[in-house]
Amino acid sequence: MKLIAATHNKNKLREFREILGPLGYEVLDEGEAGVDVEVEETGATFEENARLKAEAIHAATGEAALADDSGLCVDALGGEPGVFSARYGGLGTDGERTELLLKNLAGAPRERRTARFMCSIVFIGADGREITASGSVEGYIAEAPEGENGFGYDPVFFSPELGKTFAMASAAEKNAVSHRGRALAALNAALADA
Ligand code: IMP
Repeated sequence: MKLIAATHNKNKLREFREILGPLGYEVLDEGEAGVDVEVEETGATFEENARLKAEAIHAATGEAALADDSGLCVDALGGEPGVFSARYGGLGTDGERTELLLKNLAGAPRERRTARFMCSIVFIGADGREITASGSVEGYIAEAPEGENGFGYDPVFFSPELGKTFAMASAAEKNAVSHRGRALAALNAALADA
């Protein structure tokens, strides 16, 4: 069965393949499927945004579709940057957005720096049935960036489970505890049950 993933990101595609390949899905990204769906992420939640993307791919191709949406929620900032994680402060680079986050938390002690990464995944079958799955990981925002791996806010996301920032972790270490890893595991379980 073909499954079109709403992504151009090769890392996400690899993760989707690892989980869904054994369930009999041939996972293609938009490029491989010959579609390029521009979706405005206007949802108020990660799940709404993931659904918008999955529905657009399903409508364009008639095939099974999969989309995820994720971001960082910081308690002391009322859950920001949240669904605006990729465009926090209207800033263009990961480094600039991370700097803004640290500035907005300046002087906050560790107990006020609690945060979580969240991820929602929406699967729509070729027949239109929908399965949603989500995952999250708790941590806190470090005082300064540390580590070279990963992307986005990884250098300032300290994971107590790993004892280091996500950017100091290997891909395998991060995937074992990450919001996306957990959401994919939940999706895997839901699809295997379906
Ligand atoms: P998207 O789900 O690919 O749209 O990601 C939204 C934004 O959330 C990214 O641009 C990052 O800023 C942030 N983000 C999501 N997942 C992660 C992660 O695993 N590490 C670091 N930043 C992340």
